[in-house]
Amino acid sequence: MPSLTTLAALRAFVEERDWDQFHTPENLAKSIAIESGELLECFQWNGQFDQTRVEEELADVVTYCIHLANRIGADLDDIVLRKLESSRTKYPVEQARGRMVKYTQLAAEGTPDGRRQN
Ligand SMILES: [Mg+2]
Repeated sequence: MPSLTTLAALRAFVEERDWDQFHTPENLAKSIAIESGELLECFQWNGQFDQTRVEEELADVVTYCIHLANRIGADLDDIVLRKLESSRTKYPVEQARGRMVKYTQLAAEGTPDGRRQN
């Protein structure tokens, strides 16, 4: 997760401009989607990409994610680790390793020992 120095710099940037008033959860979620679109645009026509531009758009996405987590009182480390634990359950290594299959398909297949997943 971002260092305390980075978080402090982001906080100072927003405070200096009095932009916190615009950082509602809704606005921040929309901004994440908008910036994600700009990131995707970097790969629009082929797999070639401009490293600098990709890094700039990725920074925009991450920045808004940090702002949203702060706004709603979410701890990024905590929510990422909780989601990872959920994904471990949805994607058991023995079924998902090396496969690009959605968890619902894996659940329908059942486990190697014949159990169905939820
Ligand atoms: Mg951008």
